[in-house]
Amino acid sequence: MAHVMQYLYIISAGLFILSLRWMNHPASSRHGVWAGEIGMLLAIVGTFIGFPGMDGVGIAFVHNWTWIIAAFVIGIVVGVPIAYIMPMTAVPQRTALSHACGALAAALVGTAEFYQRQPHADTELRGFIMVALVIETLLGYLTFTGSLMAMGKLQEVLPQRPITYRNQNLVNFILFAIALGLAVRMAFVPTDTILFPIFAGLSLVFGVLLIIPIGGADMPTVIAILNSYAGLSACAMGFALNSRLLVVAGALDGSSGLILSIIMCKAMNRSFTNVLFGAFGQVQVSTGKAEQRAYRSASAEEAASVLEAASSVIIVPGYGLAVAQAQHKIRELYDSLTKRGVDVKFGIHPVAGRMPGHMNVLMAEADIPYDKLVEMDEINGEFPQCDVALVIGANDVTNPKARTDKSCPIFGMPILDVDKAHTVMVIKRSMNPGFAGIDNDLYYLDKTLMLFGDAKAFVSELVKELPARAAA
Ligand code: NDP
Repeated sequence: MAHVMQYLYIISAGLFILSLRWMNHPASSRHGVWAGEIGMLLAIVGTFIGFPGMDGVGIAFVHNWTWIIAAFVIGIVVGVPIAYIMPMTAVPQRTALSHACGALAAALVGTAEFYQRQPHADTELRGFIMVALVIETLLGYLTFTGSLMAMGKLQEVLPQRPITYRNQNLVNFILFAIALGLAVRMAFVPTDTILFPIFAGLSLVFGVLLIIPIGGADMPTVIAILNSYAGLSACAMGFALNSRLLVVAGALDGSSGLILSIIMCKAMNRSFTNVLFGAFGQVQVSTGKAEQRAYRSASAEEAASVLEAASSVIIVPGYGLAVAQAQHKIRELYDSLTKRGVDVKFGIHPVAGRMPGHMNVLMAEADIPYDKLVEMDEINGEFPQCDVALVIGANDVTNPKARTDKSCPIFGMPILDVDKAHTVMVIKRSMNPGFAGIDNDLYYLDKTLMLFGDAKAFVSELVKELPARAAA
């Protein structure tokens, strides 16, 4: 049986790696999801068949099925409705909740192992194993409370603004140093059981203190980092339980979370060291009203005539499209324009929306052909030759100030060069700023037409106007 389990583990580790590989592209991402799910199923089956851990557990050694079945049922009852009910725009907080649960599981396993192995502490909690256990529990507990804080901020049940006080970093540092000191002591004297609850409590408090000084606006990046911590905790658990699969899966999770947060930082031009030390993320103060500058607006009828005359159109989707759930209407617009022989592409910014890949997922939901979704670096060279750039609910990711205005908070953030297209049309509800809270110079260019309205309603009008005009 142990051999069968080893083979299953190798297959699931391979599937986890393939899953990450396939999720790199919209065309293969569904395979990626399947590979990950099958990998996880095989891992669970393998664990039941026989686990060569220190206690030699396996299906024959399960003493209490009630707990396992109860956890399984609770997971399904809570998890399945959440997956269906949660709107796409709330995925960042849902992800934070998942990290919290995963990290808590790792921390509880570490805690159980610590107490369960006490009778044989000299042999079973020696050196490296104990180091792995304290890393697992420290990261597990702090990620649990940190992720709950992140979720609370994103869901706006906690204040979005950074909560700060004097000497905050010093307090955090001292707390962390005490937790680390206890961890070192436990690594040398694992029988000192009284220290463990204090250590676990400090880790929980540290998770809260780490996240509260960060503004709600930066939570999606923080979530990617917490994802990485949860993965590292699982990896340490793999060492403690002598499970190679957990080591591999945890390392994949930890490193992919880290890589994702680096990509997000680059795409938003944030400093990664700031993110790591948690002392960043002041919420951008929105003036609510844009300064009074002249701009041109147009009706759906006028916009339709501009589109009708175009031979190439680049659609730039953003957060407002997700809010309006306009993806299916955009598919109709795409069909209508391509039927007229217009070359339509989509310019995808890596941090458009509120989570990485947000726009890819929405466009995939509407069955937009994958080869029409073009990444920022690739599409930017096409804007100067493009007749119309149609911006739908995107703002910051198109703001030319990011290239020119050193004083602006998004200076240096790479943007989609929509201002280089012959004509620009922007669908949004008002002149209000986007996520970064700053005015967008794009809206005041002579070549720009503002199309005011909800993205879904306005695109519907465009879709109605196009055939009506052709028939007239
Ligand atoms: P923005 O938040 O900059 O702008 C969205 C625009 O959509 C708003 O200006 C709003 O204007 C408009 N809008 C909102 N609702 C609707 C609606 N129903 N119909 C039409 N328009 C609507 O979004 P972007 O996608 O351009 O930029 C993303 C921002 O989020 C960047 O600053 C990025 O750094 C940040 N971010 C992204 C993360 C990611 O992983 N993707 C993570 C963290 C931050 P109005 O109110 O006038 O309608």
